[in-house]
Amino acid sequence: MASERTYFDWNATAPLRPEARAAMLAALDASGNASSVHGEGRTARQRVEAARRRVAALVGGAKVNQVTFVSGATEANALALQPGIADRLFVSAVEHPSVLAGGRFAQEQVEILPVDGNGIVDLDALAGALVMAERPLVSVMLANNETGVIQPIAEIGAIVHAANGLLHVDAVQAAGRIPVDMRALGADLMSLSSHKIGGPQGAGALIVDSDQNLKPLIRGGGQERGLRAGTENVAAIAGFGAAAEAALAGLDAEAGRMAALRERLEGGLRAATPDAIIFAHGVGRLPNTTLVAVPGVKAETALIAFDLNGFALSSGAACSSGKVAASHVLAAMGVEPALARGAIRISLGPTTTETEVESLLIAWKRLVPSLLKGQSDQHLAA
Ligand code: PMP
Repeated sequence: MASERTYFDWNATAPLRPEARAAMLAALDASGNASSVHGEGRTARQRVEAARRRVAALVGGAKVNQVTFVSGATEANALALQPGIADRLFVSAVEHPSVLAGGRFAQEQVEILPVDGNGIVDLDALAGALVMAERPLVSVMLANNETGVIQPIAEIGAIVHAANGLLHVDAVQAAGRIPVDMRALGADLMSLSSHKIGGPQGAGALIVDSDQNLKPLIRGGGQERGLRAGTENVAAIAGFGAAAEAALAGLDAEAGRMAALRERLEGGLRAATPDAIIFAHGVGRLPNTTLVAVPGVKAETALIAFDLNGFALSSGAACSSGKVAASHVLAAMGVEPALARGAIRISLGPTTTETEVESLLIAWKRLVPSLLKGQSDQHLAA
């Protein structure tokens, strides 16, 4: 394996921000349970509450008592999607598996909403579907983890509220990359993940705009206003808060830089491989995400080749088991399975440099033609 590594998989997880690392080390070096009344406990509590303010600020200044810390966005999504607050759940076909799983709704209470060729929710289909429920809960992500496509959440919010519904927004990939204002978006519930914004893995938050009388997933002590029992992971929460603060402070500059680098990257990819397809390139996307396929190149083979040459890329699809599975996002967009199998995700971050992008383009020019040749040789031999 090449000794020098270049990381282009920020949508899977972002490297720890220095501010998050410092906050975590300070918390790890202190003892104290945030529920204890003594000085050590109160210091731990202050760390948790400072983090709560910082995370609330990242989504447009939600009220701090609306932020519940959990173990990550998977748990936040599972906590949000509960039948106690609605009689039917509607999720878009391109949601993360933790939303598609439907939380605590029974399978027959869950409807899948179609998307168009760019992966954007069909608003007419949404409005039509909502008549099926008296109190619908709709879950649509702000930005997609595979394509970066941004959904028209404010419009979706208006449709959902006109139908007496609630809107849950998985803002995991959008937070820290584009401005997020929960109120302006019309989100009643919002999920965030620490490790996508440069905080540690294993922390996240569910933010609830008004009192929905949610029932906890984990019962026990009264932590997190009774909504999430268990001693708080103070160091992880402190790291999450510090990352949220840094991401918000750097948002404009970081987004601008990433967008410029992504332009350069996509221009370079097209120049090197003119038949490359950049999915959803014509619609609003996150400034850091490119999902590209070259007909005839399999993502699985390409990822290994790039990895051996020092580049961490991803397939578009989730590969949590280590095996590249077919992308449900591209399938919902109507992309041919053969082309979808070639989808390679390149995701940038605030510390990605021009030199890194240029070196990836050099490797692309060298590796992709040989992958194409290798795969057509295999085809001939078969
Ligand atoms: N939603 C989206 C859109 C994601 O990309 C992810 C992470 N892949 C999650 C939810 C789950 O987040 P976590 O890793 O914090 O459980």
